[in-house]
Amino acid sequence: MQKYEAVIGLEVHAQLATNSKLFSGDATNFDASPNQNVSPITLGHPGTLPRMNKKAVELAIKMGLICKSEISTHNYFARKNYFYADLPKGYQISQHTTPICIGGRVHIKTSSGERDIKLTRIHLEEDAGKSIHDQDDALTLLDYNRAGMPLIEIVSEPDLHSAEEAAAYLTQIRKLVRWIGICDGNMEEGSLRCDANISIRLVGSEKLGTRVEVKNLNSIKHLKHAVEIEINRLTDIVDKGEKVLQQTRSYDADNGITFAIRTKEDAEDYRYFPEPDLAPFYFTKEYINSISKQLPSLPEQRFEQYIQVFDLTPYDAEQLTEEKSLSDLFECVAGSTNQKKQFANVLLGPVKSFLNHSSKSWEDIKISTDDWIDFLSLISSGKINFSLAVQKVLPIMLSDSNTRPSEIIQHLDLVQDADTDQVKTWVTQVVTSMPDKVTEYRKGKKGLIGMFVGEVKKVSKGKADPKMVTQLLESILNEK
Ligand code: ADP
Ligand code: MG
Repeated sequence: MQKYEAVIGLEVHAQLATNSKLFSGDATNFDASPNQNVSPITLGHPGTLPRMNKKAVELAIKMGLICKSEISTHNYFARKNYFYADLPKGYQISQHTTPICIGGRVHIKTSSGERDIKLTRIHLEEDAGKSIHDQDDALTLLDYNRAGMPLIEIVSEPDLHSAEEAAAYLTQIRKLVRWIGICDGNMEEGSLRCDANISIRLVGSEKLGTRVEVKNLNSIKHLKHAVEIEINRLTDIVDKGEKVLQQTRSYDADNGITFAIRTKEDAEDYRYFPEPDLAPFYFTKEYINSISKQLPSLPEQRFEQYIQVFDLTPYDAEQLTEEKSLSDLFECVAGSTNQKKQFANVLLGPVKSFLNHSSKSWEDIKISTDDWIDFLSLISSGKINFSLAVQKVLPIMLSDSNTRPSEIIQHLDLVQDADTDQVKTWVTQVVTSMPDKVTEYRKGKKGLIGMFVGEVKKVSKGKADPKMVTQLLESILNEK
């Protein structure tokens, strides 16, 4: 039986997808050259004043709404004071006592089932700049492009209990922020980052153990690994009867280890006080409702709908609701065809692998709903068989051609031959050309049927209906 229970709480920073920073008009593009997006406001020059970005507030409220948080109607910003070279003002503007969203939950699925993970809060804050230590032996370089970028910090309760749950939670947050379009979720570029707080306690105990905090995990894989490492390390310490130190640690992906960066005092004194340069701000119920109305239906709802209404498997439904652009595409077409399962197969099979190979995304697919429906009805009416449609017609559709699928198959002379005489000729041609195989088949090697079908497919250049071919072959081969 397991002796300890792991307890994990995550702090996730998501960079909001606004065109300008939280308190200035500076641009937010990631590809800017160093220190390109910096105005005197970002650099904290004397005499400058911050001005709040309304769009950022709206995006933060959206996240709170989909997490079923309570939205604080009365808000103000707070100053969090500390000195660091990448923080030119000497303080960060954040929220302390009045987070914009209170409570809430994030639904996760793991191998042990489904659960809601409780949130403590979601608050708005500005990012700091970036210190770069590895480009010069003696100097630290500073890039202030990131200073003042709008972030939300999503703080969970200590409510996760394994590395798998922590990974599932972050995966779900990434999916949700992308789904509602408030953050691009790009962990490599740092748009989504995570700090993991980990402790262990005896199974059955209510009291939280001393925690360690692993900072700045920038991939889901790293989060999972860092949590695994810490659970094992803490277990060893406690098993030896030693005391866990409350530490801030860092994860070294190259060596697969964590190491202490500082041992934390109980409470850091940031001398928080209400930000005097920004007025408090209030939301009306109408304002919150108007934001709520802009939200799309969520992946969980669509997942249920695809199973209940469209009769898809949970596996297909899960994959189709992985990304909103895919799900939107599916729904556009699924609304006007009975070939829903067929369409799911086309999207999740050949189209998905086309996207992987060409490093494209679902938004890049420009095929119109009408063309999709034309394509699907060509298959369902037997004008072309599925594999030929996928191999020959789909690539042309995906290459942004403006030609209708029904014209493509005419053009390529791919219309399936339902003419029995023609198919019979092909079948006879194949059977007479392979007398040895025919003998083997008749002696009982029935598995050869697939080979014969394949040969007819070659001879007919794919135009013979495989069902008809199989029937004809069987009747010829089985007659003595
Ligand atoms: P700080 O901002 O100093 O890191 P917080 O009190 O805001 O401190 O906690 C941050 C995160 O740590 C939260 O997600 C919380 O759930 C988690 N946490 C707090 N105590 C523990 C603990 N003993 N074990 C695991 N996680 C914890
Ligand atoms: Mg913390």
